[in-house]
Amino acid sequence: MTENIHTLLAKHLDKLPIPFPATESGVEIRILQRWFTEEEAEIALAMNGYPESVSVIAERLGKEHEALAHILEDMSKKGLIFRISKGDARLYNIVPLAEGMWEFHLNTNDKELLQDLSEYMDYFMQKGWYGTPTTQHRIIPISQSLDNDMEIMPYEQAEQIIKAQKKISVAHCICRKEQRLLGKGCDHLSEACMAFGTGAYFYIENGLGREVSTEEALKILKNGMDSGLVLQPGNGRKVWSLCMCCGCCCGLLRGLKAMEKPACVAHTNFYSQIAADECISCGLCEERCPMDAIRMDADTAVVNRDRCIGCGVCVGACNVDAVRLLQKSEQDRYIPPKDVGEMQMRIAGERKRS
Ligand code: SF4
Ligand code: SF4
Ligand code: SF4
Repeated sequence: MTENIHTLLAKHLDKLPIPFPATESGVEIRILQRWFTEEEAEIALAMNGYPESVSVIAERLGKEHEALAHILEDMSKKGLIFRISKGDARLYNIVPLAEGMWEFHLNTNDKELLQDLSEYMDYFMQKGWYGTPTTQHRIIPISQSLDNDMEIMPYEQAEQIIKAQKKISVAHCICRKEQRLLGKGCDHLSEACMAFGTGAYFYIENGLGREVSTEEALKILKNGMDSGLVLQPGNGRKVWSLCMCCGCCCGLLRGLKAMEKPACVAHTNFYSQIAADECISCGLCEERCPMDAIRMDADTAVVNRDRCIGCGVCVGACNVDAVRLLQKSEQDRYIPPKDVGEMQMRIAGERKRS
């Protein structure tokens, strides 16, 4: 039997560094069928994960340049592919489900699609996102949990990450938006997804997010940290995104939380410790911890290190300074890839070896 175009596209997407794993139910094909027309699927099948000009794609497809230019621009506006604008020139590439098509459909997914996405996401998280040792995000502590005597790298400090950017966009959090539409969700900050550089241009031009100044981005960051959100930047020393996530809605954190030992999977250089003699057993840290890493034991709170992802949220929750965030020893420290390209190469290499 000949495979239909959307099944072929699913297999093509699975060849990107970030997997697009196949399910038995075929829900991932249904998602592609809802997003891509047959013509768009055929075009995406001829595209690569790295940016290319219209001429290169047109030649590969044997299509007329002008007509294809319109279709590619339209596909990028719909969030099916990524676009880099350099003056009048445009470069396009296909993208994974996440980070990629899923986030780019922030404003357009309907309830039926959301149901399919929610059916697929847990599987995608397990087999795709967390299917390799290197993942697309890492965890950095909230600033309130850092001590002056720590040696913190600039890529581990949220304020430094933001101050280093020339173009910043902020978008509504798709995890919380979708959970609310599905009748779940929480009241945490909605505008919580920041993109930088080319990602920011794409978000702004596509109406997915709005441009913010450094000062406004820092205010949004402070609000997120004060309200107990977890900071998850892109997994690179040159950072391209910064998410502020809650343990209840965030697909990434829910994926981690479902594991027995999230600390072994999360890219983090920190963990927390509680001074039993200072703890007044109020339980606030246990309530706030997004990983269920804290339990109350007799008259003190206790941290399970296998579950602690070093987000520092518990430090912000404690009114008597009984919680401290500690740095892992030097030989255990995680050094992120240089940038998004190196991160993708690491993931691709790990998939080949597995
Ligand atoms: S990853 Fe975090 S900030 Fe980004 S959409 Fe999900 S919960 Fe929101
Ligand atoms: S105990 Fe929980 S809240 Fe505290 S740093 Fe670890 S994961 Fe974060
Ligand atoms: S918030 Fe502080 S005082 Fe309260 S249980 Fe946690 S460590 Fe103890």
